[in-house]
Amino acid sequence: MNVYIVTDLEGISGVTTFAQTRDSDGELYQGARRLLMGDIAAAVDGCLAGGAARVCVLDGHGHPLNVIPELMHPGAEYICGRGFGVAPGLDESFDCGMLVGYHAMAHTPDGVLCHTQNSRTDARYWYHDREFGEIGQEAMIFGHFGIPVVMVTGDAAACRETREFLGDEVVTVAVKHGFSRESCRMVAPERARAMIREGAREALSRVGRCRPFTVPLPMPGRFEALVEPMPAGATQAQIDAAPRRRLEKVFEDQLHIYSFA
Ligand SMILES: [Zn+2]
Repeated sequence: MNVYIVTDLEGISGVTTFAQTRDSDGELYQGARRLLMGDIAAAVDGCLAGGAARVCVLDGHGHPLNVIPELMHPGAEYICGRGFGVAPGLDESFDCGMLVGYHAMAHTPDGVLCHTQNSRTDARYWYHDREFGEIGQEAMIFGHFGIPVVMVTGDAAACRETREFLGDEVVTVAVKHGFSRESCRMVAPERARAMIREGAREALSRVGRCRPFTVPLPMPGRFEALVEPMPAGATQAQIDAAPRRRLEKVFEDQLHIYSFA
């Protein structure tokens, strides 16, 4: 069993504010990297306990290097950097995908650090007139290769969104419950890691029951975002009044879904 894990930072246990995820020079971000490594190690551990032969981790958050190499689980390979396209190294040799540290789509009221692709430009994506967040988008990319997503970890809103898109067989691990975009109730990272480890182990037993996510093709898509990123303290009224750009495109496959050029 070969597993491909994509990580993000906003849904990692212990991460609550954008100060932890955006400012790569900040001390809070350095702490978030250590929290990320704990959740990754737990997922890899669970995969190996569930019988995985190969676990590949893609460091998927915005910065080119979020993982701390010396803290990477020795049982995993990992991919980081920039300029590697949508799904580097992903192919049909993988049996399942996992999303670790994910968040709900933009404008989810209880979605901790919710956004879609860009948290500063209010970016939103629709395919076949259904709004997608990053969980659905990543599931489409795995689905292009015929690979099901079998586990998603993040906040409770991300887990709910996962079930809406992928059904009830996929394992969801809620490590926090949002009150608002930057506040939530959490379990301690140590407890979260135990849940993630157990979730990953359980998920590998469900690979045969989880279906790859597929959509009818060709697929009409729509993208909308602010022309300029908003400063961190911008009010909703300022965001609503700012100029937006809108793009439409018909996609021939489920892989190149981010490119509206
Ligand atoms: Zn992110």
